[in-house]
Amino acid sequence: MPPSASQPSFNLPTRSRLDLAAEVVETCRKMNAMGLNQGPSGNVSMRLDERHFLITPSGLAYDAMRPEDVPVMDMAGQWFGRRRPSTEWRFHRDVLKSRVETNVVLHTHSMFSTTLACLRRGIPPFHYMIAVAGGDTIRCASYATFGTQALSDNVLKALEGRKACLLANHGLICVGVSLEKALGLAVEVETLAGMYCRARQHGIPRLLDHREMTRIIELFRTYGTPEFPDAELKQAGDEWPGGR
Ligand SMILES: [Zn+2]
Repeated sequence: MPPSASQPSFNLPTRSRLDLAAEVVETCRKMNAMGLNQGPSGNVSMRLDERHFLITPSGLAYDAMRPEDVPVMDMAGQWFGRRRPSTEWRFHRDVLKSRVETNVVLHTHSMFSTTLACLRRGIPPFHYMIAVAGGDTIRCASYATFGTQALSDNVLKALEGRKACLLANHGLICVGVSLEKALGLAVEVETLAGMYCRARQHGIPRLLDHREMTRIIELFRTYGTPEFPDAELKQAGDEWPGGR
């Protein structure tokens, strides 16, 4: 849904710009330390306010990156700072502009997601956790040259109703309300991609049908909250009364 002047639905972070930039840098380092990305490839953006976002700079090693190196961009493509923004600023800008519920866009060249992306293959519902990305598949965006508007257009299409997509012959994109959520999703999707690659080596995985995936997606809506449906599970008290 596009933002509406009468119904602001941004959920903006309240920390200072440099604190947020420090979190962005930290997330990039984690991405590499966790094996989700290699070298200076990949990039991360985070919404700063209704019209601006932070985005990792172009071609700077994450270990050498400081919060002051993270430029600020607006939705028209103007940037402020001492380092040029990532060449992939277009898809970061377009996702943040079109999805008010999203504050973070995270892009990596992780091994198994990229392996599938090089086959121009998305991830089908071979495992119920596919629902973590918001639907019954994780799509692969059609190929376009890195940094182009065509790539950004393809990404928006593949992300429709989803929080993750693969990029043909390129990598993975995950989006979320926070850096933590987007990074957590990248771990999940990369794990699923690895499982799918391995399962394919041994045969053709049996897929879950649309009805079952619809049920899983509904269960995920309340997963981890007290609203999660389970009629047999009853809380008997806040404290264990057993005495030890
Ligand atoms: Zn890339």
